[in-house]
Amino acid sequence: MNIKKIIVGELETNCYLAGSAGELIIIDPGDEAEKIATEIVRFGATPRSIILTHHHFDHIGAAWDIAERLKVPILIHEKEKKYIDFPEVNYLKEGDEIKVGDEVLQVINMPGHTLGGLCLLGEKIIFTGDTLFKDGYGRTDLPEGSSDDMNKSLERLKKLIKPGTIVFPGHGESLKN
Ligand SMILES: [Zn+2]
Repeated sequence: MNIKKIIVGELETNCYLAGSAGELIIIDPGDEAEKIATEIVRFGATPRSIILTHHHFDHIGAAWDIAERLKVPILIHEKEKKYIDFPEVNYLKEGDEIKVGDEVLQVINMPGHTLGGLCLLGEKIIFTGDTLFKDGYGRTDLPEGSSDDMNKSLERLKKLIKPGTIVFPGHGESLKN
């Protein structure tokens, strides 16, 4: 998978363009729609969808703008529904698959930071949103956050992340497992 990181907004959120075989998805377009749109053109693949790892403003801020420009659907976990007020959204659940070119990403619900937080697991890559960072994990003191849930999610992640997998978090640098 070909992955381009774009750092956007005040909280320096990682927006990712993830492409394969002429298609791409946009993960967490948190802000700076213009900058993201420019990078999408430069990437040179057909955008298929926008995936939001969770509902926090720094991950979703430019989503509607990008969705309208590109005419692509926005997808987020169904447990984040009450926080989302875009005119049109599609909902994901545990076990759903996102196909991008030749790649398949599995939707994994990782509560802890938010109830409907999700990770996208592919072959040797995983996008972890605000669940797992290079030097730690996401806050659990925000609404619907839970340190018990976070501990369980991190335990689960340890088993899912195989050696050699590259982790692409919602903020900061990537890490190789
Ligand atoms: Zn967050």
